[in-house]
Amino acid sequence: MPSNPGLPVVVLGAGYAGLTVAREVRRRSRGQLRVVLVDRNPVHVLRTELYEIGKIAEAAGDPRPWTVPLAKILERTGVSLRQGVVASIDLLPGVVRLEGGEEIPFGYLVICLGSVAAYYGVPGAAENTFSVYRLSGAQRLAAAVREAERISPNLPGERRPRFVIVGGGSTGTELAAEIATTDWARVAGPGARPPDVLLLTGALPFLAGLPPKLIGHAREILRRAGVSLLHGVNVVRVEPGKVHLEDGSVLTCDAAVWCAGLEAPPVVKVLPIPHGKGGRIAVGPTLDLPGYPTVFAVGDVAEIRDNATGMLVPATAQAALAEARAAAANLVEHAEGRPGEPFRYREKGVIVALGLGKAAGALGRVTVWGSPAALVKRLVEKDYSRAAEKGRGSRLL
Ligand SMILES: Cc1cc2nc3c(=O)[nH]c(=O)nc-3n(C[C@H](O)[C@H](O)[C@H](O)COP(=O)(O)OP(=O)(O)OC[C@H]3O[C@@H](n4cnc5c(N)ncnc54)[C@H](O)[C@@H]3O)c2cc1C
Repeated sequence: MPSNPGLPVVVLGAGYAGLTVAREVRRRSRGQLRVVLVDRNPVHVLRTELYEIGKIAEAAGDPRPWTVPLAKILERTGVSLRQGVVASIDLLPGVVRLEGGEEIPFGYLVICLGSVAAYYGVPGAAENTFSVYRLSGAQRLAAAVREAERISPNLPGERRPRFVIVGGGSTGTELAAEIATTDWARVAGPGARPPDVLLLTGALPFLAGLPPKLIGHAREILRRAGVSLLHGVNVVRVEPGKVHLEDGSVLTCDAAVWCAGLEAPPVVKVLPIPHGKGGRIAVGPTLDLPGYPTVFAVGDVAEIRDNATGMLVPATAQAALAEARAAAANLVEHAEGRPGEPFRYREKGVIVALGLGKAAGALGRVTVWGSPAALVKRLVEKDYSRAAEKGRGSRLL
């Protein structure tokens, strides 16, 4: 039982994990447990679609295609929403403090605060690169690319606007393809020159961890889209318009984008508990914190292992949803005096968008690529956002 059964279940973060936990705790407890959901935004951000820089540029600051209002999602769930920025968490006696001083005591806590860009101490990277991990960042990048494209007809000689993407994982790859294949003349004005897009994979292999067949298709589609891949050289410094590499070379660019990795947000890194890579919360098999059976952490913020294979579960929306359902079940079991189940993860598949209605993916043992893969990805994204709008869980993600 929680230390004080009169206190609510407080869920921090209304992203993929937090929304699911909040809704599932209400459903599984048949409305018996009170749930307060805290987020800095009044909207749920469809983060998996933030690579769509061309469309974001066209939308010129309108956030609606990439967000769903939380009030609408929570309408019939019985979950209370508190908008505010989490400033600190006291695990004992069990209080969350928001910026501005408001305190929210909790009976149970579920930490779902996601992740922030990890710059690994590279000088100038935080200050001089864009990122697409938040909607505001994606909007800033879209505005910068559109402006560089708008003025591109005046560039000397044959010069084209150049964009350097740092990080050859799924996010960097999707972004590079999207920038390279957007029809910028339509978005930014007549005469806009096709961009020169460079994708730096650093020391890690391109699309590390994904099936080799998928990687082969992705490489070929990127090549046709005109994206240049640069392998094996890490970035050591970034200045405005200049990316310095460890081999001494310098890449000039109109914008650099950091897609090189993620870590836990600062408010989580300072918690006095065991941490994993990037300050993520190292949770136990039932997704609660060692020594704190009424505190759970799921999604990007947590370091989670599959209990059958011992493998780390990836930081994806797909995994965040599975973890959230499992944590909600275990929380309700605990509240009703029963033990929780160790978490098992089964991946449904991976699809990487590659611009112009193309993608490459692996669904179980089947590799899909080109337009069919893009169609499946679009279906999954649409199913998720429609279900979210109706306050339901997605069947496909
Ligand atoms: C461009 C891109 C494409 C992606 N594509 C895919 C894909 O195709 N498939 C897939 O499975 N995954 C994909 N991902 C990964 C996926 O988006 C994340 O793994 C997922 O968002 C993690 O869910 P989460 O709930 O842990 O975090 P989030 O969804 O980021 O939610 C965290 C929430 O916490 C809130 N928050 C954070 N700090 C505070 C604070 N201090 N106070 C109050 N609120 C706070 C945020 O506002 C946010 O609502 C992609 C990611 C990116 C960036």
